[in-house]
Amino acid sequence: MPEVVSHTPENLTSHQADVSAAIYDDALIDARGYSVDALQSMAEVFAIDAVDSDPAWPGETGRFLARERLRAIQTELNRRELVARLSAGTGTSTTRDQRHAAWTKLAAAVRDRVDVVEVFVANGYPLHDTGKTEAHAACLLCGGDDRLVIRRGPPGRMWCRQCQWSGDAITLAMSLGQLGFRDAVTHLAGMVGAEVPR
Ligand SMILES: [Zn+2]
Repeated sequence: MPEVVSHTPENLTSHQADVSAAIYDDALIDARGYSVDALQSMAEVFAIDAVDSDPAWPGETGRFLARERLRAIQTELNRRELVARLSAGTGTSTTRDQRHAAWTKLAAAVRDRVDVVEVFVANGYPLHDTGKTEAHAACLLCGGDDRLVIRRGPPGRMWCRQCQWSGDAITLAMSLGQLGFRDAVTHLAGMVGAEVPR
């Protein structure tokens, strides 16, 4: 896994910078509750966003948020590795590798197959100007009324015209449902009838 260096975009407002710092701290606390294979799956998902150059999605802020989350996960993975080494456990198992692969595959599948508009609807989040290709809503990060532009999918895209916040179906389900990564992926898998690894 490549080393991730934290980088604050210059046009990030101080409010957004505060939010981003909080995101790293929250992600670090959150990471404590996951198994190594779950953390590796999350890292792969965030690593994709972190280097995605699409200006609309994830956009500069989205890439920054992904990097912060990725950095927190790597911190936790490094800690686990140290703990494992200290306890001299013979840790690696094929079962863990298979579970990791299954979750990574499922995360990629739900990203592709879930329409982000359906995620808003399933969570009772109010949408405006709902049309065939686009809808608007209040931004999850900075509020407003209809500044969040939602392009219908699947997979669909969304970004805020004001603060440039953006996300995919997984980060949206995590935010709206206050869910961890696995619960969010499980929730989305249920929406498209995808099988969840045991
Ligand atoms: Zn916003």
